[in-house]
Amino acid sequence: MPMDTNTTPSNFIRSIIEEDLASGKVKKVVTRFPPEPNGYLHIGHAKSICLNFGLAKDYNGTCHLRFDDTNPEKEDVEYIESIMEDVRWLGFDWGEHLYYASDYFPQLYDFAVELIKQGKAYVCELSAEQIREYRGTLTEPGKESPYRNRSVEENLELFERMKNGEFEEGSHVLRAKIDMAAPNVVMRDPVLYRIKKVPHHRTGDQWVIYPMYDFTHCLSDAIEGITHSICTLEFENNRPLYEWILEQVYPKPHPQQIEFARLNLSYTVMSKRKLLQLVEKGIVRGWDDPRMPTLAGLRRRGYTPEAIRDFCERIGVAKANSIVDYALLEHCLRDDLNQKAPRAMAVLRPLKVVIENYPEGQVEYLEAVNNPNDPKAGTRLVPFAREIFIERDDFMLDPPKKFYRLAPGREVRLRFAYFIKCTDVILDEAGNVVELRAVYDPETKGGSAPDGRKVKATLHWVAAEHSLPAEVRLYDHLFNKEDPNEGDLFENLNPNSLEVLSDARVELSLKDVQPGDKFQFERLGYFCADLDSTAERLVFNRTVPLKDTWAKLQKK
Ligand code: ATP
Ligand code: MG
Repeated sequence: MPMDTNTTPSNFIRSIIEEDLASGKVKKVVTRFPPEPNGYLHIGHAKSICLNFGLAKDYNGTCHLRFDDTNPEKEDVEYIESIMEDVRWLGFDWGEHLYYASDYFPQLYDFAVELIKQGKAYVCELSAEQIREYRGTLTEPGKESPYRNRSVEENLELFERMKNGEFEEGSHVLRAKIDMAAPNVVMRDPVLYRIKKVPHHRTGDQWVIYPMYDFTHCLSDAIEGITHSICTLEFENNRPLYEWILEQVYPKPHPQQIEFARLNLSYTVMSKRKLLQLVEKGIVRGWDDPRMPTLAGLRRRGYTPEAIRDFCERIGVAKANSIVDYALLEHCLRDDLNQKAPRAMAVLRPLKVVIENYPEGQVEYLEAVNNPNDPKAGTRLVPFAREIFIERDDFMLDPPKKFYRLAPGREVRLRFAYFIKCTDVILDEAGNVVELRAVYDPETKGGSAPDGRKVKATLHWVAAEHSLPAEVRLYDHLFNKEDPNEGDLFENLNPNSLEVLSDARVELSLKDVQPGDKFQFERLGYFCADLDSTAERLVFNRTVPLKDTWAKLQKK
């Protein structure tokens, strides 16, 4: 994958890695991306993927893909497959380094037994609620469990019986024996194993006890020889536990946990739990709904992996949480599509224009530029005829001062075609404009008048008969609050996040588009053929309008 490493901005994680390499503490950088397969990946995960795979690539190391699959109720193979697809789509490759935390269950069990033998873990019979009560608060120390001082033998026997399924869910847990008065609440005898009589998508009913995240994660990192274990800031408090567990049972050197600020984007949510609710309540059509911040949704919407990688690089890596403006993501996308996307003409809300002095039945093919930013893209021919469609918004019966487009008696340019002048307006009984009559000037072919007269607007258009019907889906933010997590999530939904236009027309050259093909529709924005698009029924998503609010903000 072509990625210019020379431009990668430095950040505090790079500094740590460079020091570790320079001092010889680390010989080869090994990172990992460790998703839990309980949902689809979102743009926040992309930040972590670009970071972990990017570091491995830049320092000639490796990056593992590891499924952190210790919560069987919430996990599913559908998610595993989608995650692999999305990571590959983003442009990264884990090679042979595909791992599952569940593959370590036998080893993790042995490490737990080892902890018990050292007198550093015990089987506790307090209920979940009691454990919470006993834990204390930030200002008060916790209280020791009455089961804390069981003998090693008793603990070994009880833990084995937990494993053998002899106890009910919730009746017993294995806890680390650390310090109930520790200022960091995470260190107050955290739970390491719990009973869950739930089959696992990989290990079946082999296990009825499952290790907790904190126990699993550090040991999985160590088993795989991860050198730098990069995670989001919420795990800062868990770092002492990460280190404590390794200290007790794993030979050195240990992986180093480093935290960075997670990505938050305005007008959307990033929690898989919340995204799942949107899917389950039918608020969106699925995980890949083009309004979703998931990689599957962004891909369907028309985002490119290049744009997302560029975005992840521009936002950088920091230690302070913030909300990134959605407009920056869109800006990166426009940057990319502006170079790549061929131009085409489409009319979203058609208004018919009959050019009365154009010969009936005649069709002529006019040359149109495919991409002004890419001379190699060449030109194509678009049919022009007596009846055409223009955009309804491009005509006004009674135009205000600053409206320069078509109006009665006014002349405008049709892109790649001729000047036309509106001679008549046909209204229905209610006074709505239903059709226009016009004349064209044959001398203006290609868009300029030999007598030097000017027009103030250029409109896009398609020939009426020689164009194709299409459905166009316009999207807006899913939420109408910058931070939708403020207040009730569902009250903050934008009721107008999807608008379907079923009578759009697109130029003939789009006859064979395939889902995923991207275009700039002249004057309208970037569009992408949707997965629902077929030869019989073309369907386009508006990926992003042309107006760049981010670029505008930067200029101010
Ligand atoms: P969510 O809150 O969406 O459920 P998660 O952290 O529980 O996310 P995981 O599957 O555990 O999801 O995440 C895999 C990796 O991606 C973790 O290393 C996590 O730190 C990282 N990650 C998740 N969300 C973000 C985000 N918004 N920004 C940056 N990294 C993220
Ligand atoms: Mg998680």
